[in-house]
Amino acid sequence: MADYDLAIIGGGLNGASLARDAAGRGLRVILLEQGDLGGAASSATSRLVHGDLAALERRGFLRVRADLAERNVWLGIAPHLVRPTRFVIPAHANERPPLRLRAGLWLYDRLAGRRLPGATTLDVTHHPIGDALKRPIGTAFEYSDCLVDDSRLVVLTALDAAERGAEIRTGARCIRADRERVWRLAVIDRGHRRVLTARALANTTGAWSASTAEMVLRQPPPRVIARRVSQIVVPRLFDVDAVYVFQNSDGRLIFASPYMRVFTLIGTVAHPFTGDPAVVTAPAEDVVYLCTAANRYFRQQIQPVDVVRIISGANMVFSRASRGAAMAGAVSFSARRRKAPLLTVFGGDVTTARRRAERAVSRLARLFPMAPRWTATAPLPGGDFAWDRFDAEVEAARERWRFLTETEAQRLVGAYGSRLDDVLGGAKTRDDLGQSFGPELSEAEVRYLMTKEWARFPDDVLWRRSKLGLTMSPAAQEALAAFMATASGAGHSATVSEGSGDSEVAKVEPRPRRR
Ligand SMILES: Cc1cc2nc3c(=O)[nH]c(=O)nc-3n(C[C@H](O)[C@H](O)[C@H](O)COP(=O)(O)OP(=O)(O)OC[C@H]3O[C@@H](n4cnc5c(N)ncnc54)[C@H](O)[C@@H]3O)c2cc1C
Repeated sequence: MADYDLAIIGGGLNGASLARDAAGRGLRVILLEQGDLGGAASSATSRLVHGDLAALERRGFLRVRADLAERNVWLGIAPHLVRPTRFVIPAHANERPPLRLRAGLWLYDRLAGRRLPGATTLDVTHHPIGDALKRPIGTAFEYSDCLVDDSRLVVLTALDAAERGAEIRTGARCIRADRERVWRLAVIDRGHRRVLTARALANTTGAWSASTAEMVLRQPPPRVIARRVSQIVVPRLFDVDAVYVFQNSDGRLIFASPYMRVFTLIGTVAHPFTGDPAVVTAPAEDVVYLCTAANRYFRQQIQPVDVVRIISGANMVFSRASRGAAMAGAVSFSARRRKAPLLTVFGGDVTTARRRAERAVSRLARLFPMAPRWTATAPLPGGDFAWDRFDAEVEAARERWRFLTETEAQRLVGAYGSRLDDVLGGAKTRDDLGQSFGPELSEAEVRYLMTKEWARFPDDVLWRRSKLGLTMSPAAQEALAAFMATASGAGHSATVSEGSGDSEVAKVEPRPRRR
């Protein structure tokens, strides 16, 4: 008998979503991630959970409706991570005609159903939305969509998988997989060579998909091309809590969204990519392109020198992407007589990741007995409250932990939802949370991230479990690094995974969950 039913190589959103779905259906799952969960493309997305307005122009009505339905699913299962937001399209004389935009948004609302507030037309000369915009923009169209904390979505999806029995291994690189009646995998797991067997294998290695197929699995690679997507972070350009959508002169939509309160995230620009997916950076012309796009609309002008961070990721799309299907995710399934099955899942956007995983795992159903589909209604860890109760959750947190500021409570509820109790426990004062790493991060939170969410290194905490790397001082970052080195080295009791001899392993107990 094989060690596992399903081994998954790659811990981005696609891999974590597969692990969650399969574990919840009763399969014995292991997820192998060579670095950190969500460490590649999955933490470099535009953070949109949406029906993709631009797809309406390509008459993709059914797809938009299905994706908007998925947006509602995310609001239901991850109300802490996925937040409804108003999106604003300033009407620019040289771009899409206002009548076409109004008609498109009317249709978008109809396809979405009535869950979020509908589209409206704004006179921005008398509205705060207009304060940041150049004149003579006088009209804007406002509609509803959602933003997600992309990297936390990966981590909490993996956490849910773990609580349903999946084994999650970060720092574990699969170097070879032989396809026999079962798959036999060789893995370098935190410096130790390990061999394991699985009845089925999933390749969810994103931009590595083709090289993994060729070099690790020695299978024909999928017909894919790599693309690099980049965004920039600049000091805040506007005060309103809304996402601006610009119609750029080349027809692309550019999004400018609030980011960590004092910043604005602007993106995206995408290009074909060759090179090592582990080292993806944006060329200077992409940064200039995004600054120029923002400068067409905002009063406050920005230059490349204002950019405080560049976020770039690479992923695979079907080679027919060049003919217009760039964002479509792909699931391929190969089962041969006397050979263990292989799933390959890559690309696609964040909005559709859950559904893509559901479909992928269902392909195994004729080979393995498994429980029916379940992920659309079961909340992710901390997501068991209604999406329109977010502010009430923040209020409740401030009642319970009276030392929290409004801003802190917003961040913490947005990150942990109803599980905040597991992080802050019975603390009565800030001092009860232990050492502080700057004003926003406490020892209690870092310990939680190390013991429950697989954080091993400062970057795991600063850029993926949170985005505090943007605001934390160098001195506080150094103190965090020193603390994490000591905490993992000393193997304080909560971090030690019994019997593994590995003090860095997050220990996740199965939790009774409702389906
Ligand atoms: C061109 C393009 C643009 C996109 N733009 C957007 C967007 O605007 N909005 C949006 O919502 N989504 C966007 N996406 C989608 C999104 O970025 C990802 O597709 C999604 O997050 C899923 O990523 P993934 O899990 O397939 O890959 P990744 O997140 O890249 O994960 C793959 C993982 O595999 C690991 N790995 C590789 N080899 C091995 C090995 N041998 N052993 C163990 N681990 C290994 C890597 O370390 C990595 O963590 C875009 C995608 C593409 C292709």
